[in-house]
Amino acid sequence: MKSYSAFRTARIANETSCSATLEHFLSTIESKNPTINAMISVNNDEARKQAAESDKRFADGSARPLEGMVVAVKDNISTKGQRTTCASKILENFVPIYDATVVERLKANGAVIVGKANLDEFAMGSSNENSAFGAVRNPVNTDYVPGGSSGGSAAAVAAEMCHTALGSDTGGSVRLPASFCGVVGLKPTYGRVSRYGLVAYGSSLDQIGQFGSTVEDAALLYDAVNGFDERDATSSHHAQQHTLTSLKEPLSPLTVAVLPEEQLAGCDAEVLRVYHQTLERLKSLGAQVITHAMQYMSAVIPTYYIVATAEASSNLSRYDGVRYGARKIGADGEVTTATRSEGFGAEVKRRIMIGNYVLSSGYYDAYYTKALKVRRLIYNDYKEMFQKADIFLTPNAPTPPFKIGEKTSDPLAMYLEDIFTVSANLGGVPGISIPAGKSSSGLPIGMQLQANHFAEEKLLNVAYHLERAKG
Ligand code: GLN
Repeated sequence: MKSYSAFRTARIANETSCSATLEHFLSTIESKNPTINAMISVNNDEARKQAAESDKRFADGSARPLEGMVVAVKDNISTKGQRTTCASKILENFVPIYDATVVERLKANGAVIVGKANLDEFAMGSSNENSAFGAVRNPVNTDYVPGGSSGGSAAAVAAEMCHTALGSDTGGSVRLPASFCGVVGLKPTYGRVSRYGLVAYGSSLDQIGQFGSTVEDAALLYDAVNGFDERDATSSHHAQQHTLTSLKEPLSPLTVAVLPEEQLAGCDAEVLRVYHQTLERLKSLGAQVITHAMQYMSAVIPTYYIVATAEASSNLSRYDGVRYGARKIGADGEVTTATRSEGFGAEVKRRIMIGNYVLSSGYYDAYYTKALKVRRLIYNDYKEMFQKADIFLTPNAPTPPFKIGEKTSDPLAMYLEDIFTVSANLGGVPGISIPAGKSSSGLPIGMQLQANHFAEEKLLNVAYHLERAKG
C-alpha cells in the first residue's frame, strides 16, 4: 500500500501524476473488485476530470491539502447526483440531490472521489456480510470477512483501490474493519465531524471516520473534514483541528490505562499475544502503565444494542415507500408494509423489531431508560479514567478475522465482536485502530487506542509513534 503522503512527495517531484495514479487505482478496481466487492459504484469519468484538475493545480502551485488524493466514500454518505444505496434494496436507485458536508469538504480540499464503498445494510453489522450487493471479502485472504460495517472502505484501502476512505462508526464500524484489513481507522469524538448527509443509523452514536494506510494519511483526511457545521445540530463548536502540525512531535510524558487481565480473558490467544507486544512497545516509548477496570464492561454490549436499535427503529421509519427510494404495492394495494418487507434485509428487520420492543410503552423503562442510565455511568467511568491516563489501550476485537459465513447464523457471537469498541460511541470519545501484528495464518490484528473527548491530537500523536515502534 502506498500512502498519499508518499504519492504527494512524488507528485511534487514530478515523478508521477494524479491522472496516472488514478488510472492505477481504476485498473486495480477493475481487476480486483469482482472478487473483493469493495465498491458499489465507481466514478470513472468524474474522477478522471478531478484528477486532471489536480494535476493542473500541482503544476501552477495551487495544490490544496488533499490534492489528487483518491478517496472512496462509504455508500451511506450522500453524494450529489451519485447513487447512495446504504447497501439496501430499499435505496437501490436513490440519487441524492446534495453532498454531505464531508463530501463538500473533500472536494474543496482537492480530493478525487473514486466511488462508493460497500457496507453492511444501513451500517448494521460487523462482517460486511449484510449487504444487498453481496458480501465484501478481505483482500488479505478472500476466505475471510473484512469486518464491518465499513468493510468496503477498509478493503478498498487495503486492496489499493484508493489512497484513503471515509466510513461511519456507530459501534466500531470503522475500527473493526481497519483492524481486520490491516489499515488505520479513526473514529473521532462525537460531534467533531459533521453528520449532515450521513444516513442516520443511531444518531447519538454515529460518527464519520477516516481510513488510511498510515496514521499520517488518516490524520490528513481527518484534518480536512472536521470542524463545526451549522447544518448538523449536534456538531461541536470547537474550532477545526489541525493534527498534522503536531503529529510527529516527540511524545510528551504518557500514561496508558489498560484493563485488568480478567477483563481480557475472553480474547483469542493470538489477539492477546499482539496486545502484549503492543503494550511492550508503548512501554519502550516511555509510557507509564496503569490498570483501570471498566466497571460496566459486561453491560456495554446490551446497552449499545438497546440504544442503537431504538434509534435505528425511529430513523428507519422514513423508508415508507412514499418519501424515499423503492416503492412496492402489495396485492391489496397497501404500500408501506409491502415496501419495507421487500426492501429491508433480515438484520435490518431484526434491529427494527428489537428497537420497537425496547421503546414500547410496557418495556420503555425496563430497557431504554435503563440503558440511558448505564450509558451515563459508562461516560462517567471514561471521565474518571482519563483523569489518570492519556490513552486507553485495548485489543480492537476479541478475535482475529473470521471466515465468511462463520458467524452469520449466530447474531450474538457477531455482536460480541464489538465488545471493545462500542463503549467509545456510548461515551462519545475518540478511538483509533492501528495495525499491530498478524495471526499465525497471516491475518491482520489491530489494536485500539482511545483518548479523552476532543483529544484527537494526542491520540494521533501516540498512534503515529506506535506505528513506527512496530517497525
Ligand atoms: N457492529 C455494530 C452494529 O452492528 C456497529 C455498527 C457500526 O458501527 N455502524 O451495530
